[in-house]
Amino acid sequence: MFVVCKSKWIFVVLAVLLVVQTALTAALLGHSLSAQRTTLIDFTVVIDAGHGGIDGGVVGVDGVKESTLNLQYAKCLGEIFSTAGFNVVYTRKTEGGLYGLPTQGFKMRDMQERKRIIEQAQPNIMLSLHMNKFGMGYRSGPQVFFQQGKQDGRVLAESIQRVFNDMTGKQRQALGGDYYVCRETSCPAVIVECGFLSNPDECAALQTEQYRTQICRLIYNGVMLYLYEQ
Ligand SMILES: [Zn+2]
Repeated sequence: MFVVCKSKWIFVVLAVLLVVQTALTAALLGHSLSAQRTTLIDFTVVIDAGHGGIDGGVVGVDGVKESTLNLQYAKCLGEIFSTAGFNVVYTRKTEGGLYGLPTQGFKMRDMQERKRIIEQAQPNIMLSLHMNKFGMGYRSGPQVFFQQGKQDGRVLAESIQRVFNDMTGKQRQALGGDYYVCRETSCPAVIVECGFLSNPDECAALQTEQYRTQICRLIYNGVMLYLYEQ
């Protein structure tokens, strides 16, 4: 578990973000209405719950499946964005995968279907949610990744990581790599590894509603920080 530290700084950031969100809502309301959108803000977020179906992702120390937690976090995060007036699109809303039949090549079909859903939504950003694992160690904390070479994804990842670091007190960097859903989508896209299922304490915490809500609010705040700095 983490202790919320630097609480003054967090309150300042949240206050700024609230003002930004209110300003965004006011600025975009007219445009949204003229475009007859059903959401308050003309800004679409795709939330991708990683894995699913026969691809459970990594397994926690207590046997929990990453794919199950990813889905819970996706719904929680989507609810926060929806409540704030954003348009939310999910790549999956059930425990099932997106590959059709579980035959050879299912993983690539699953990834291609995610790409299709993301591109069809023409989102402003894409957030892919995952859980991490590292041997038998006690590594902990959330970390954000982006597609190496894509600057817009890097900026988004760094904003979210800064908000995470403020909670954990760690000085972790957003890291570049090669990730299909980030590489193959045209909007700013990041992978958020919410925590380590290989860490017994964090594995237990990640399964509580309180911690899930905390992490999802931080992701949301990271996106608000990103928008504020655009
Ligand atoms: Zn994963």
